[in-house]
Amino acid sequence: MNTLTKPKTRFAPSPTGFMHLGNARTALFNALLAVQQQGIFLLRIEDTDQERSREEFQHALQEDLWWLGLHWQEGPVVSGEHEPYQQAARSHIYGSYYDRLSAAGAAYPCFCSAQELEISRKAQAARGQAPRYTGKCRNLSPAEVETRLQQGLAPTLRFRVPKGESIQFTDGVRGEQRFMSDDIGDFILRRGDGSPAFFFSNAIDDALMGVTHVLRGEDHLANTPRQMLILQALGLPVPEYSHIALIVGADGSPLSKRHGSRSIRELRENGYLPLALLNYMARLGHSYDQDQLLNPIELATNFNLQRLGRAPAHYDAHQLLHWQHQSIAALDSEVLWEWMGASVHALVPAAHKQAFMETIRPNISFPEHALKWANAIFHDPLLLNDASREIVAEAGNHFFEQAVVALAEAADFNSFSSAVKQRTDRKGKQLFMPLRTALTGEQGGPEMARLFELMTPERMRSRLQACIQH
Ligand code: GLU
Repeated sequence: MNTLTKPKTRFAPSPTGFMHLGNARTALFNALLAVQQQGIFLLRIEDTDQERSREEFQHALQEDLWWLGLHWQEGPVVSGEHEPYQQAARSHIYGSYYDRLSAAGAAYPCFCSAQELEISRKAQAARGQAPRYTGKCRNLSPAEVETRLQQGLAPTLRFRVPKGESIQFTDGVRGEQRFMSDDIGDFILRRGDGSPAFFFSNAIDDALMGVTHVLRGEDHLANTPRQMLILQALGLPVPEYSHIALIVGADGSPLSKRHGSRSIRELRENGYLPLALLNYMARLGHSYDQDQLLNPIELATNFNLQRLGRAPAHYDAHQLLHWQHQSIAALDSEVLWEWMGASVHALVPAAHKQAFMETIRPNISFPEHALKWANAIFHDPLLLNDASREIVAEAGNHFFEQAVVALAEAADFNSFSSAVKQRTDRKGKQLFMPLRTALTGEQGGPEMARLFELMTPERMRSRLQACIQH
């Protein structure tokens, strides 16, 4: 790598859907590598598929990246010296490169129809061969080309793959790679409608935008030799490629909805915190020495290409939840408050805000849990579920009658429970479970001593009384 050029990584999504863990992780690794190398993280929108690309997906993508804290220094919105960053707006740039390849004999027009190509693919499949362009239009004379153009046929432009070459590169993750050009059929650079094909625009833009490191999914590994051939034919710089192992579900198949995977959008709407997702994703196929929650700078400083695994990374919802807990524990209290949401704000008296948050912090994973506790502590009445009603019934009327009396004299939970213990002769679980259940409607949760401080004596009294069957 030229020591004068700043390292530059990129994320190059196609805006054809919402961002999922897989592509978010690719974006994250690229962002981390850029920070770690004190370089630039670039965002490029690959919207050449006009039918499937949608502007709303581009915006959603940008919003999701921003929310995750994966801020790009070059790309849409922030701009930069290689504008535009949407491929659909770059046709005028691609034109001269098609011309150069054609002039050098490295590309040729192909008039084969979709139907013809399909027939040839089927025939190859029947012979047990891999689908490959047969080279039918490879050697058309200028006159033959002219005739077909006169007939109004719209050709694709194909790359003329050189014969007998070996294409080698060192993959940052997978090590030495070697491909034979004879195994690669002539591939399309420009579609019949004039739009660029992925191999072409993706490679050209990496070179033109000064991308030095391409970190992308393993599904692109076989594309790399093709892209290197294009860049070499044009005398353009070839970036360093690294291909990341895919994420798979517990059954080993590529991660999908079936495995409980959701879009970044859905995770965010469910209340997942960006830091939780970052810590989780950064460890999906990459290992850190540190087991604790790392902030984004620490994630970047300790990121290392050599620590990317070659084996598929297994998605594990429990791990994600683990990082969610860690992130909640570390959250600034004002941010935690905002995260809990308006329904919680409406229930919690201002004077109890801090105490409420610190009391329930270890016991919540999502805003809905905060709402459950806000209701349990500050709102009447309490509806008991079946399990709670059973516990209440087992403790019996006498227990709660005594608890009401004990409450009237108690200064804190300690003195309260001691008094109930004395009056009822119950101890341990027999004592604490019915008290917790009657007061909160739950069998687990934050420390009772702290909940006691937050609840008014009137509320506790009426809840204990509600457990006395008439
Ligand atoms: N637009 C391509 C994709 O979303 C980019 C692949 C690459 O990173 O080179 O798969």
